[in-house]
Amino acid sequence: MSNTDTRDPTSLRTPIVAVLGHVDHGKTSLLDKIRGSAVIEGEAGAITQHIGATAVPLDIISSIAGDLVDPDDFDLPGLLFIDTPGHHSFTTLRSRGGALADIAILVVDVNDGFQPQTLEALEILKRSQTPFIVAANKIDTVPGWNATEDAPITETYESQSDRVRSRLDESLYEIIGNLSDEDLSADLYWRVQNFQRNVGVVPVSAMTGEGVPDLLTVMMGLSQRYMKEEMEIDVTGPGVGTVLEVKEEKGFGTTIDTVLYDGTIRDDDTLVVGGQNDPIVTDVRALLQPRPLAEIRTESRFEKVESVSAATGIKVAAPDLADAMAGAPVRVVRDRPLEDVVDEVEAELADIAVDTDEQG
Ligand code: GDP
Repeated sequence: MSNTDTRDPTSLRTPIVAVLGHVDHGKTSLLDKIRGSAVIEGEAGAITQHIGATAVPLDIISSIAGDLVDPDDFDLPGLLFIDTPGHHSFTTLRSRGGALADIAILVVDVNDGFQPQTLEALEILKRSQTPFIVAANKIDTVPGWNATEDAPITETYESQSDRVRSRLDESLYEIIGNLSDEDLSADLYWRVQNFQRNVGVVPVSAMTGEGVPDLLTVMMGLSQRYMKEEMEIDVTGPGVGTVLEVKEEKGFGTTIDTVLYDGTIRDDDTLVVGGQNDPIVTDVRALLQPRPLAEIRTESRFEKVESVSAATGIKVAAPDLADAMAGAPVRVVRDRPLEDVVDEVEAELADIAVDTDEQG
């Protein structure tokens, strides 16, 4: 069967991004804003809605970010945002030995500052050693704010009165102070030289889109600079992923929404999936992606695809998935002995069990 991926066998995949933070600080709104901006900037189809994730390609990031991003400076293909925000999904979603997300955005409401779930999220990010940046959200709520929709932060900052600017500065420095209380050296992102040593704080508004160009630029830059090697994958190799969610789907039975972070999965592959008891060995019946909205009439919400490559979100329909678990590994067998792959999945499941115990 043909592989629809036209990239070189050894390629760079998109980094997987998770959004964390205290309830109501704006995680969902920020994801919606990024998706919305990407749809406006892109020709139809340029931003792809995956199962459980949204892919924002580099050319869209560069048109949102304007002068901030020169696409020639990057060879990573873009960013893949996991659609379910929050640290519950972050801790459940793991890949070999670590977090499924390669990079994270910690959202903090500028007015509300650090809250219990902000601290919890920080602990999780530290423990999993996930690089992250802080989005200081809701800057538009600073009294007297003069909004310029979708503008980069420096531009909008210049157009505020002195009083508004110093109000914002005060809130931002409070957040930087809170981070320092947690032993993290942080600063406004444009002052950060080394994002591995210092946490960059990006002022944004998920409502007006201000600072979103900066946020995407910093995420892209950080990934390119510090994560490029980890993003090198064998695109055509046997797929490896993590179950996001186990779902009944009319006409397809039990399906697993999966984030694929390595290799390819084809519609005739045999899979080993982590189950509540033993690893499940099953044959793919269909690979499903959301159908573009315009095409949904009486047809299924999903369309079948022959194969997909990392990083991507995909719904897999296959027999015997009732015992599959969110957070469990998924591995394509392909040309390897089945027992080896079953052993790998068992070992990964054992790791997850140990970590869950440690977290109490
Ligand atoms: P989540 O619980 O972290 O996902 O937070 P939501 O995205 O649901 O946002 C909580 C509330 O804050 C909603 O009423 C949003 O409309 C509002 N909100 C989120 N971001 C902003 C922002 O940048 N500015 C303003 N003014 N409101 C925001």
